[in-house]
Amino acid sequence: MDEVLRSSNLAATLQREGRATTSDAVRTVLERLRQEISSGALDNNTAQLAVDGIPAAVERELRQSLDLSLRRVINATGVILHTNLGRAPLSAGAIEHLSDIAANYSNLEFDLDSGERGRRDVHVQRLLDRLLAEHRYPKAGGDDAAPEAIVVNNCAAAVFLALNTLAEGGEVIVSRGELVEIGGSFRVPDVMAKSGARLREVGTTNRTRRSDYEKAITDNTRLLLRVHRSNFAMIGFTEQPAARELVELGRSRGVPVMEDLGNGLLVDLTSAGIQGEYGLHESLRAGVDVVCVSGDKLLGGPQAGIIAGRRELIKRIRANPLFRALRVDKLTYAALESTLLAYVKQDYSAIPALRMIYTPATEIRGRAKSFLARLGTIPGVHTEVVEGKSVIGGGTAPAATLPTLLVAITCDHHSCESLLSRLRAQSPPVIARIEDDCLVLDLRTVSADDEGPLLAALASTVETSQPSQTV
Ligand SMILES: *Cc1c(COP(=O)(O)O)cnc(C)c1O
Repeated sequence: MDEVLRSSNLAATLQREGRATTSDAVRTVLERLRQEISSGALDNNTAQLAVDGIPAAVERELRQSLDLSLRRVINATGVILHTNLGRAPLSAGAIEHLSDIAANYSNLEFDLDSGERGRRDVHVQRLLDRLLAEHRYPKAGGDDAAPEAIVVNNCAAAVFLALNTLAEGGEVIVSRGELVEIGGSFRVPDVMAKSGARLREVGTTNRTRRSDYEKAITDNTRLLLRVHRSNFAMIGFTEQPAARELVELGRSRGVPVMEDLGNGLLVDLTSAGIQGEYGLHESLRAGVDVVCVSGDKLLGGPQAGIIAGRRELIKRIRANPLFRALRVDKLTYAALESTLLAYVKQDYSAIPALRMIYTPATEIRGRAKSFLARLGTIPGVHTEVVEGKSVIGGGTAPAATLPTLLVAITCDHHSCESLLSRLRAQSPPVIARIEDDCLVLDLRTVSADDEGPLLAALASTVETSQPSQTV
């Protein structure tokens, strides 16, 4: 260790990074080298090479350990709301607003008119009021009431908070066909148990009728819950009452109906070729009393959970002390407000996720062809444009795919798996997929600005043979 630190090769590094940081890096590199030697991975020759390479390895180690861990990547998978890749990229307006609010003080909880303390939820309430203005709940007294909405950390938090507020100590009736797991570890029965509500399962996996819910209602019933199946589809001999039927039943028995919808769809996707996707408007139109949606699924905004519904129920949810623990920060409000503003202005193309969904396959074909033309001919590399499917992802529209054109690549020197991992090692890393023994890139999820870096990453992936990095 001392010998390495004293070597003249590391003098500049020591000067620049300081003794403590450099020593840590040297320790890590030497430990790795020791392990490789004792495991027999290195013979005399390669061991000597590795020892000579210590200063370079220390430099590499320093660079990696000082790198940020959260990195931007190029998503060439064609999965638009890829949960593992951060779901929705934000609109330019949202980013601008977010950075302005982040860099400065704001009126987050300050009423500029009165000069007194304000509430943070007013910032999106104003826009949600406008977006949801067409919906009215009938009130006992005869007046109609518009829905209200509050924002929490994500849809999982929204469901948990709503169940805890409205059903703790009581029963919630759910169809056996909707006891689903969504994404990593969001399981309806588990969330229900933690919320303090008791699950009352009705019906069967494939068929549940209105009468099943009806028979299960008792004095202890607090909610009828519908859960959007999100990431899987059921076909064949199936039956499920429409939301409207459940609402009728609930109203006749004085039990509110809640829907865990997941996707925050606010637009009609039929023009993009996606039929029957059911969003926030459809749920409220059916009269559902409380709807939980996700801010970063089809809404295309930041991670957030929106609970929209009947005023008196939302008021109770807001008063739950857990709301304070699940509330969102000013950055989320800024990004969400700006995203919702685009909906109010009907400026849908400002929202990247919607833009990608609405991009026609013909446009992607053109981009794929000119992309390959720019890549040019590389010996040993075979490319073509083939038909394929993009996926909405994020647990929305499980059966909904969009026709697309894929750039398909094979290479004489590298397997597809190796190309995939070499692309991930680029800067920025590129995430692609394999289909029919080809590496495929779907430009639907690659912004025009990212085509240049993607081209460079691809060229260096297929061309260079990277030096082995022993230590
Ligand atoms: C995605 C999803 C959730 C979880 O949403 P997050 O915002 O990721 O917490 C809950 N319920 C349904 C039906 C979903 O599709």
